[in-house]
Amino acid sequence: MLSSATSKINQASVKQNCMIIVDCKDVEPILNELAIYVSDQVAAVPALKAHQFVLSPIEDDEEINQSEVVTSIKEFLESIGEKQSFAVISNSNKIMIKSILGKKIEREAKKSTEQMFSCAHCGHVTRYEVEHNNHVRIHYV
Ligand SMILES: [Zn+2]
Repeated sequence: MLSSATSKINQASVKQNCMIIVDCKDVEPILNELAIYVSDQVAAVPALKAHQFVLSPIEDDEEINQSEVVTSIKEFLESIGEKQSFAVISNSNKIMIKSILGKKIEREAKKSTEQMFSCAHCGHVTRYEVEHNNHVRIHYV
């Protein structure tokens, strides 16, 4: 990943490069569930945005294994019986879940049997209220 070009990039964009963006336009009803599942599998911090989620490393100096992300997305699609209908395309730090036959996912967004807490400031999402409260506090420091 390191090359002479990247050495010119400032600190902020280096951090950007550690993040993985997962484009979920074709699978929006499962966006939340998928973000939680994948971030659990690869030990990353998820943030929900419109039509996509972003995975950041838990520690700044860690790197997320992109092929693990792809694998866990496929596992999730398989678990809901949709693996055949979607392609998972990986391109630099962006992963796209693309409908193969233009089929959109029909699944209803899951009613929260598992409650989730989403940060109104940045989209950080977690299952744990304590973690959520701790997180939200950083915006007020
Ligand atoms: Zn936040």
